[in-house]
Amino acid sequence: MPAAEEKPLAVVLLSGGMDSAVAASMMARTHRLACLHGTYGQRTANRERVCFGALSQYLGAANRRVMDLSHLGDLGGSSLTDPGLQVADADPARTGIPATYVPFRNAHLLAMAVSWAEVLGACQVAIGAVEEDSSGYPDCTRAFYAAFQEAVRLGTRPGSRIQLVMPVIDLSKAEIVRRGQELATPFHLTWSCYRDEARACGRCDSCVLRLRGFAAAGLSDPIQYDPAVEVPGDAGKGLPAAGPGGGRAPNVSRARRAAALTAFLERLRRP
Ligand SMILES: [Zn+2]
Repeated sequence: MPAAEEKPLAVVLLSGGMDSAVAASMMARTHRLACLHGTYGQRTANRERVCFGALSQYLGAANRRVMDLSHLGDLGGSSLTDPGLQVADADPARTGIPATYVPFRNAHLLAMAVSWAEVLGACQVAIGAVEEDSSGYPDCTRAFYAAFQEAVRLGTRPGSRIQLVMPVIDLSKAEIVRRGQELATPFHLTWSCYRDEARACGRCDSCVLRLRGFAAAGLSDPIQYDPAVEVPGDAGKGLPAAGPGGGRAPNVSRARRAAALTAFLERLRRP
């Protein structure tokens, strides 16, 4: 691996969620990072910004910026930014584009990141978009990024040669969790919930996709969830308590944990 000063620079979009955190961990092996966060009036903007700060520090970012996209919030049209709309519970039977989609948001984020990359002389712009195991947003597809790459080629200085990279776009949530574990991604510093900032709700699309990923990977999610949510892999939760004091079992057996995970996955599959 090249020494830090020899590594090329990449601009990495870091939302504070687990997908972009793992994407950034992957990029950090071969690049110095310029971390970029966009804030757009989303419900959990404060928590995400705190996570961004902590993650970029943890990853040893060479540079970092928070950019204001509050015009997206002003436009509305998404339950993430419009207080008049509700963030619905995850629904496996739902089809079509969910109401949490923020119209063309990733194009705004990419445009900012490419501008910054051109100024810094960075060779790559990374985004933690996921296509396979996602909510189905149209600006998270390989086809969209291929088209945007062509716009970058035509719309930047000849010789800029900025390449868009999507390190986790083909991975399932479980694969993202496993990859993050291999790379020591600090999941405790990430936030995915669309609704709440203090404790994750465990019921919105983003929470359910995250929990399903941790469950399928057989790992515990270290962030705090609403106590009413049965979190798989959280030792003892939802399982019989071990001691007379009602405390959590210190050593939940593998078989019982596996049974709890299976039951959790079954519940998610149920329409
Ligand atoms: Zn949630």
